Amino acid sequence: MQDYFMLINGQLVPGAKSFDVIDPANESVLARCPWASEEQLNEAVAAAKSAFPAWASTPIAQRSALLVKIADAIDADAPNLARLLTQEQGKPLPEAEAEILYSALFIRRFATFSLEPKTIEDSEGRLVEVHRRPLGVVAAIVPWNFPVLIATYKFPFALLAGNTVVLKPAPTTPLTMLRIASLVADILPPGVFNVIADQNDLGQKLAEHPSIAKISFTGSTATGRKVMASAASTLKRMTLELGGNDAAIVLGDVDPVAVAKDIYGSAFMNAGQVCIAIKRVYAHADIYDALCDELARLADAAIVDDGLKQGVQMGPLQNKAQFDKVKALLEEARGDGAIVAGGVVEDRPGYFVRPTIIRDITDGSRLVDEEQFGPILPIVRYEDVEDALRSANASEYGLGGSIWSKDRATARDLALRMEAGTVWINKHLDFGPDIPFAGAKQSGIGVEVAQDGLDEYTQIQVLNEAR
Ligand code: NAD
Repeated sequence: MQDYFMLINGQLVPGAKSFDVIDPANESVLARCPWASEEQLNEAVAAAKSAFPAWASTPIAQRSALLVKIADAIDADAPNLARLLTQEQGKPLPEAEAEILYSALFIRRFATFSLEPKTIEDSEGRLVEVHRRPLGVVAAIVPWNFPVLIATYKFPFALLAGNTVVLKPAPTTPLTMLRIASLVADILPPGVFNVIADQNDLGQKLAEHPSIAKISFTGSTATGRKVMASAASTLKRMTLELGGNDAAIVLGDVDPVAVAKDIYGSAFMNAGQVCIAIKRVYAHADIYDALCDELARLADAAIVDDGLKQGVQMGPLQNKAQFDKVKALLEEARGDGAIVAGGVVEDRPGYFVRPTIIRDITDGSRLVDEEQFGPILPIVRYEDVEDALRSANASEYGLGGSIWSKDRATARDLALRMEAGTVWINKHLDFGPDIPFAGAKQSGIGVEVAQDGLDEYTQIQVLNEAR
């Protein structure tokens, strides 16, 4: 079994204790993971704090060049990283390979962003410029569904802007990020980038720590509320990317067979454990039966197994807690609608639930109203699209949403009335390093990715000079 280490002050160190990381495809112990003590957390934060002044005054071009080296290191180890990611997270190997590839690609793109001062006024009376200063130590807290890509949304921009970082992966998926930490240990000056692991016991301590200037958190809305409370003590800056319950509204003018393929892909990627997956479909009565039939056909045909096996299209749920939650939702939903595909929890080791399509279900069922974060898709019938829009918007969440129609003008009108941070037309779950990502309502605060995302790792400083 390979040994894993945390990265604290440039050193690869064991934990004060260690814990098991489980392979969700067979429930066996994949590895022992170092578990940081509170003292080690404090060491990591102290190292980041003392590294901050020198890093902040390092020219941005130099910081950018080091980010490119990190991307090179990830690319050079991509096959091992992808395999490890599949083993700890459960996603099929091609999805893990894509996550590693995109992470390196995003870092390369982020390394090209800049923080040039802006001149606001240059008149006879005054010269006014806006500069962007780094904040200090950033705590990056990451969930288990995209352990590398979501970390990549955070630490490269934090570093590029001149901050130092303490990153904490989720307890059930720490290994790939620890491996990346070991690859980059020699690239960055000691203390600039630290990675610690925990058993859900250190996130709050990190978020409360007085030496942390900003928290960049991705996870559930429930935990996001706690992070916000923790941040209050020292008025920390925050970016919160939280839960979602994305609705897809499918109008009656589409070809149901053609759109079913895209809707299926956007609902069941990573076994539905995607913050911006389609989590409920509102389909017009004219195409309702045909859409349900085609989605059921695709679900029935899916190959569900250990993600390391060739040809597998869907792996297990990532962890036991999520598996139990999804099973409970499935049992409850059996009475709320008609299961036309799946509905089966496989009788084998591993957290496997077959992709499930439930039709003739309505708002008011927990499966429709809540974030299932698993491979069960409810399809709700509607007659009047205004009712569908009202239902889509009747949620505390507002992460993403989509409109599917041949009529572009109608689709755009509906899209602009959807209460969501991102609305797609005739697609879903499309993103990129230059496209800002933000949640509306209780799906988040602030922006990640793109220039807006970089700006969030800075503080504005106005320079106002008399002429
Ligand atoms: P979670 O909230 O349980 O945990 C996320 C991280 O927070 C973990 O690293 C955890 O150890 C840490 N944590 C736990 N308690 C904490 C506390 N009190 N203070 C600070 N940190 C704490 O989320 P999860 O179950 O790992 O991930 C699934 C959730 O994340 C889903 O709701 C999903 O929608 C959401 N998510 C959102 C986005 C987005 O960009 N909006 C992306 C991916 C996942």
